[in-house]
Amino acid sequence: MCKAMNRKLTALLFSSFGGSSGKGKAGEAKEPKAMSVEDAYLILEAASSVVFIPGYGMAVAQAQHAVKELCDKLEENGAEVSFAIHPVAGRMPGHMNVLLAEANVPYEQLKTADEMNPMMPNTDVAIVIGANDVVNPSAISDESSPLYGMPIINAFEARTVFVLKRGNGTGFSGVENPLFTNDNTVMIYGDAKQTVSSLVSEFSEE
Ligand code: NDP
Repeated sequence: MCKAMNRKLTALLFSSFGGSSGKGKAGEAKEPKAMSVEDAYLILEAASSVVFIPGYGMAVAQAQHAVKELCDKLEENGAEVSFAIHPVAGRMPGHMNVLLAEANVPYEQLKTADEMNPMMPNTDVAIVIGANDVVNPSAISDESSPLYGMPIINAFEARTVFVLKRGNGTGFSGVENPLFTNDNTVMIYGDAKQTVSSLVSEFSEE
């Protein structure tokens, strides 16, 4: 299963997520945890269900064709793959649908938040690709947030969440996103197209 590495997947997950209780000491702010493409590949290789959640950053990176390639690799590896499309992801209505259609992602694979959210707790890996506001759990839990009340894609409920973004940039709303410091979230920093292409390469080297 796992490509020749002298670590087991469980050890990898434990080292990624188990380093702390996630609560931190009193007064300490939680920090996002970064993961390498190589380690992320090991988790993806073992995943049975994967959901892509694209956002504005996928459009900026023009990563849609690489995303389709990764989708194909995951399916060849036996995973069930879906795309969760938020109605205001990106910067214009239908932005994600247009880009994914351009990359020949079948329409049937594109799911709404209402369709995907009930499935999220049974999803092995949610891959957030340059999305931020549309996966911000403050919209549910923080009445003081400007996003409060906006329906989101519940990425935080997946067993493992990968967030692909370049750094600490906020989304359109400009608000912090607590998803990034959740215990089950890891950040894979870099341009989304570059990161997704590197993951495709990992599968190709199998
Ligand atoms: P966001 O704007 O919330 O977040 C986009 C994220 O993409 C940023 O945090 C940024 O982080 C990351 N990013 C940018 N470039 C790259 C790159 N090259 N590679 C990887 N990541 C990148 O996007 P969402 O789609 O989640 O939300 C859309 C927002 O836009 C909502 O607030 C919505 O209300 C608003 N909006 C939507 C409209 C629509 O019709 N769809 C119209 C007007 C506004 P970093 O800089 O760290 O990389």
